[in-house]
Amino acid sequence: MPVVRGSTRLLGLLGHPVAHSLSPVMHNAAIAAMGLDLVYVPLDVAPPRFGDAVQGLVAVGALGANVTVPHKAIAVAVCDHLTREARLVGAVNTLHVTDDGIVGDNTDVVGLYDDLVNHFGSLHGGEIVLLGTGGAARAAAVVIARLGARAVVVGRRPDAAEGLAELAREAGAPDARAVDLADGAGVESAIATADLVVNATSLGLHGEALPPAFMSLPTDTRAYDLIYNPAPTPFLAAATERGVPAVGGLGMLVGQAAAALRRWTGEQPDVAVMRAAADEALAGS
Ligand code: NDP
Repeated sequence: MPVVRGSTRLLGLLGHPVAHSLSPVMHNAAIAAMGLDLVYVPLDVAPPRFGDAVQGLVAVGALGANVTVPHKAIAVAVCDHLTREARLVGAVNTLHVTDDGIVGDNTDVVGLYDDLVNHFGSLHGGEIVLLGTGGAARAAAVVIARLGARAVVVGRRPDAAEGLAELAREAGAPDARAVDLADGAGVESAIATADLVVNATSLGLHGEALPPAFMSLPTDTRAYDLIYNPAPTPFLAAATERGVPAVGGLGMLVGQAAAALRRWTGEQPDVAVMRAAADEALAGS
């Protein structure tokens, strides 16, 4: 833990709930290792008070905050400036209080991008099946575009899946299309040729399986689940059983945190320190 002095500046996590979050342990471990005069605290803020909480942070001279469920979309409205990632995704997970106002960033994009490249190498020109159309899936759609891959967005709400395919195209994906989750044959044929299959739904958080086609992947694809707890999720366990390389979202979580701390401090945090803190907290939970 960092030492808190009279001069220490505040960083926070605005969410509801926040008690389960790994962000405080990751950030405080990195801050202590870097010898910075900062401290990172969880701040449980009910939705109607989000704007007040941000004003309060500015008033007390906080350096910034992370934003998590359920405030990521509304956080766009409190920002004076948005990064390209935040604008495209339509959600902010990092607020940076600067002399020029509040800058809103979405570091989920770089967190996921780096983790996919670290594990799977270049996916340029490949095809990625993305299951889900929520907030995290929006970040994933932008990542697919940035990887130079084609996107197949699968969702249970066809209009939402169509919207995400459009987002991927707008973000520069060479091609993007939507498939209705209810279209079993369409889903199977997309998965049959996918270079990577990504779960960006909340299915698996409580031990749920994904729809059948996702639980019997062809052996020549790869699997990534944004969910990192439990590890492995049923989706990743089924992939591993079939010999499919399978990776959970902890690297994305650490990556988005490291990118936020880099934005706030201008310094490169020790990602291994953040990862070790997250692993330790998960092992003890
Ligand atoms: P949202 O609630 O915004 O989205 C959840 C998505 O899951 C929606 O598309 C929803 O569909 C879909 N879904 C839920 N149940 C079903 C079902 N039975 N069948 C089909 N689709 C379903 O959550 P987020 O996008 O914020 O987060 C999604 C997951 O990603 C979470 O589990 C979260 O833990 C993880 N995550 C991980 C991060 C990391 O750093 N590793 C970062 C952010 C998120 P519909 O819209 O139709 O309801």
